[in-house]
Amino acid sequence: MSHILIVGIATLDIINIVNHYPVEDEEIRALSQRINCGGNAANTASILTQYGHKTEFAVTLADEPDGHRIRDQLTARLVATNYCRFVRGGKVPTSYITLNQKTGSRTIVHYRDLPEYEYEHFKQIPLETFDWFHFEGRNIPAVKQMLINTQQRRVDQPISLEVEKEREDIDDLLPLADVLLFSKSFATGRGFNNAPEFFELIRRLAPEAMLVCTWGEQGAWLRDTNNTEHHVPAYPPPRVIDTLAAGDTFNAGIIHCLNNGNTLLEAVKHACQLAGLKVGQSGIDGLVL
Ligand code: ADP
Repeated sequence: MSHILIVGIATLDIINIVNHYPVEDEEIRALSQRINCGGNAANTASILTQYGHKTEFAVTLADEPDGHRIRDQLTARLVATNYCRFVRGGKVPTSYITLNQKTGSRTIVHYRDLPEYEYEHFKQIPLETFDWFHFEGRNIPAVKQMLINTQQRRVDQPISLEVEKEREDIDDLLPLADVLLFSKSFATGRGFNNAPEFFELIRRLAPEAMLVCTWGEQGAWLRDTNNTEHHVPAYPPPRVIDTLAAGDTFNAGIIHCLNNGNTLLEAVKHACQLAGLKVGQSGIDGLVL
């Protein structure tokens, strides 16, 4: 099994499960509630440990009870937090999530008041023991420095980058990773209603990267380094229960397979299967058997 470094954020997820999505100004009672550690990178790290990988997560956490709660949950999921940075006076990023039991949809209001993980912290991490590096596409100036620094210090370990949300100058990051993991909302936000046309644009910005784009219940698209393209359908579960973290789960599946030497097509098929399992269950625990 491999040693994987993940850089991104962890959130406190307060998830209310409801039997319908409320209209504005309505008051409804939740059927149940769960509070746990979330955030794209934290979810991906947690699933990679389920495969048996040794996963190290570099993140900023607030030095307050909710920050400690997140660290403890990561530890319980076997995610190492040796390079986490605790900050006094902040509050952990918090996602207030309404999960509609009827459709599995998740509506998120996010609040954060915490400094990001910065380059000064990252450059102190010894990189030589890692087999794979995964970054969230956020905090662009700092992550750009981290990616350049990783390229300079690595031997030949791959770098993957999650590109989920539009952010100023995010295109600067694209040529600096080997595997680019896009979301449908990023592609549609750029004005594309299909992944192949979106890949045409991205190929100009990242001539050598493997390109992957998830497309919700339609599965995912990939474009290999030799520009071969494939569509992989989703694996629908008997009932969609919880789509929260489907993309993070998908990304963990991709990293696991590519790291194992599988082709990109094999990796995307596996990731769609894993994400299909995920949307059919509540939460991300126990996904990898
Ligand atoms: P995100 O969680 O980032 O919004 P997507 O909604 O694109 O990501 O989902 C990621 C992957 O999860 C998809 O590529 C697909 O394989 C799977 N998935 C998402 N929704 C469904 C669904 N309703 N049924 C089956 N698979 C799904």
